[in-house]
Amino acid sequence: MSEQKYRMRASASGREAILAVRPGGIYVDRETGEELRPVTATLPLAEADSALLRRPENLRFCDRCDQMIGIDLSDCPHCGKRQ
Ligand SMILES: [Zn+2]
Repeated sequence: MSEQKYRMRASASGREAILAVRPGGIYVDRETGEELRPVTATLPLAEADSALLRRPENLRFCDRCDQMIGIDLSDCPHCGKRQ
């Protein structure tokens, strides 16, 4: 399972940190000792494989076969239609 990083904030001081957190873990600011709570997940989300070249934003649909193909391909690998 890949780790999801969260933007964490200490509510009293407003100090923030980006941490890979585990469910149920307690995270404390090293300097103030305050508990840090997750504010938001940072991108890329753990479910998205950031090492993968074929991200959704790099894909389009072939207008003949409706398969998703990379925008950098000159021919559809599924039906051979020239793009
Ligand atoms: Zn096609």
